[in-house]
Amino acid sequence: KAKEQGKNRYVLYDKDMDKAFSERMIIEKLLHTAMEKGEFEVHYQPQFDIQTQKVTGLEALLRWKSSELGNVSPVKFIPVAEDTHLIIPLGEWVLNQACIFIKELHDKGLKDLTVSVNISTIQILQSGFTQKIIDIIDSYKLNPECIELEITETILIESFTTVLKKLNKLKGMGIRIALDDFGKGYSSLNYLKQLPISTLKIDKSFIDSVSTDEEGRTITRHIITLGRSLGMTIIAEGVEYTEQLEYLKKYNCDRIQGYLFSKPLPGEEVKKLLNV
Ligand code: C2E
Ligand code: MG
Ligand code: MG
Ligand code: MG
Repeated sequence: KAKEQGKNRYVLYDKDMDKAFSERMIIEKLLHTAMEKGEFEVHYQPQFDIQTQKVTGLEALLRWKSSELGNVSPVKFIPVAEDTHLIIPLGEWVLNQACIFIKELHDKGLKDLTVSVNISTIQILQSGFTQKIIDIIDSYKLNPECIELEITETILIESFTTVLKKLNKLKGMGIRIALDDFGKGYSSLNYLKQLPISTLKIDKSFIDSVSTDEEGRTITRHIITLGRSLGMTIIAEGVEYTEQLEYLKKYNCDRIQGYLFSKPLPGEEVKKLLNV
């Protein structure tokens, strides 16, 4: 036995591994029935114009309230949904919900509001992906320019040319593409050059560092300048403090999204916030 050999550290490590593994198994099992049980909901986090402080858009964020596990974070269940390809029907459901909600807001007079939906690599690589997206948006008679798809850099490591072709087609239809979590991964500047990106979302880790170190501040303001000179709209993610807001404003960041202004909210609360 490891413990008898005085290797307590390894025993603990094994237990943690075991726990993570069985938790994953449970999530996987429950995910399969979560949809039919109606356990998913979409919340929306408002994005604000940094100058006017008005809401310009909403990011759709999936929420899962499991009857057995309670609220499960997307950080935990999205990777499982991706591995099992459940993200394909789930992602389609999120897009439909987001379209229904933004349509309702447009009908109430908020014509310029956009909605952003996170899209996984698995979805993009699926055959017929672009047509499916176009058909969904069409079915609600929405202006494609009000829909933004958020992709991450990890998407791009695999199958760059395939992804590029599909994104170009969507962009050609007027749909906006946002590069999410910029700076978190490998951040190839080549992606900025080649992909049809309308919006650059600076990762929260850089926004955090605005409060803590000079290097973080320097990189953040140069990302803003770089993105803006490429004609992109810049959104700062995870803004929690006034000093971050002030810094971002000073260096011409376009929009902010973060707890300082609003957490992700259920649709009904978003409507209250927007007075509709
Ligand atoms: P993301 O797309 O980068 O979304 C932003 C995350 O940051 C959200 O976490 C949001 O609640 C959180 N956040 C926003 N402002 C603040 C802040 O000021 N402080 C802090 N601490 N956090 C903030 P959430 O909702 O837990 O989602 C986590 C990730 O899960 C998302 O990161 C996205 O990658 C993924 N995800 C969520 N919904 C979907 C979905 O429908 N489809 C796919 N494919 N992925 C999704
Ligand atoms: Mg996102
Ligand atoms: Mg992000
Ligand atoms: Mg993300």
